[in-house]
Amino acid sequence: VGMQGVAVAETATQKALAYANDRRQGKAANYNGNGMAPIVHHPDVQRNLLTMKALTQIARAISYSCAHAIDNARISSGDEAAHWQERANLLTPLAKAFSTDVGVEVASFGLQVHGGMGFIEETGAAALYRDARIAPIYEGTNGIQAIDLVTRKLPLGSGEHVHGYIAELKAIANQVRTSNLQGFGRTADALDQALDDLGQATRFLQGLLADGRSDEALAGATPYLRLISLAAGGAYLARGALADQSRVALCRFFAENLLGEAGALKERVIGGAESLAAAGKTLISA
Ligand SMILES: Cc1cc2nc3c(=O)[nH]c(=O)nc-3n(C[C@H](O)[C@H](O)[C@H](O)COP(=O)(O)OP(=O)(O)OC[C@H]3O[C@@H](n4cnc5c(N)ncnc54)[C@H](O)[C@@H]3O)c2cc1C
Repeated sequence: VGMQGVAVAETATQKALAYANDRRQGKAANYNGNGMAPIVHHPDVQRNLLTMKALTQIARAISYSCAHAIDNARISSGDEAAHWQERANLLTPLAKAFSTDVGVEVASFGLQVHGGMGFIEETGAAALYRDARIAPIYEGTNGIQAIDLVTRKLPLGSGEHVHGYIAELKAIANQVRTSNLQGFGRTADALDQALDDLGQATRFLQGLLADGRSDEALAGATPYLRLISLAAGGAYLARGALADQSRVALCRFFAENLLGEAGALKERVIGGAESLAAAGKTLISA
């Protein structure tokens, strides 16, 4: 089901990119041709398209990492098999929930890039959005996936498996910092910050679980799932960019434009439970 999210996101991205290079509307400073500019020249359309590309690549990387862990657990034995099984268990709710959320988000951006043509049926953009919307619901709603992540996956390996994973992601940030490749901008700093935010949020939730304050931990489960997915995804984009210069620009765009969300998600995990519980009481009539 995670791969359904990736597939619909990839399809939406390809369609939107093709449309944006074809559709002409308005003037753009960076367009020197005749008549109106293809909308792909407009910075706001570029932002939508780059967000689509980055989120799709992240969802794919997380899903492949999960599959890689499952394969390694199957072909190894002993401690090594146990390690990979824990990794697969940790990544499964990310692969399912983050990827299917991305499917919806990216399909929605795709509709936006198509403008009015996206809302009516001819382009197929609206159909992709409808198709994407089921995947966060079936095979364990994404809310339940987040609960699984916090209550069953954060305790893996006496609570240390997830920190080992974060340390591996940190090593990628460090490789970016020491790389000779051009064009990473502030990627290393942004990644380090997001991974520090992730580490703090993780220890906070583990502390709540250890104290038996599970309701407070569950209040932060969905923002936590997105936080770990974005931070891991940023590191995966960086790993790809370290191996292939042509991928550096998208990695930097993600780090400098989108990864800042990690800090806000950490605040929601750490500081959101009390107000949620207070306001939640106002909803209950039964
Ligand atoms: C098109 C389609 C195809 C499907 N195909 C299959 C299939 O092939 N096989 C099959 O077995 N099922 C299938 N389903 C069913 C699907 O798996 C369920 O709809 C899904 O698991 C959600 O269950 P529910 O509808 O009972 O929602 P509910 O369990 O009532 O959930 C409603 C909301 O409450 C939240 N919620 C529920 N319990 C908790 C909790 N303890 N803590 C926090 N939040 C909670 C949920 O996250 C959700 O947001 C299909 C559904 C659809 C729409």
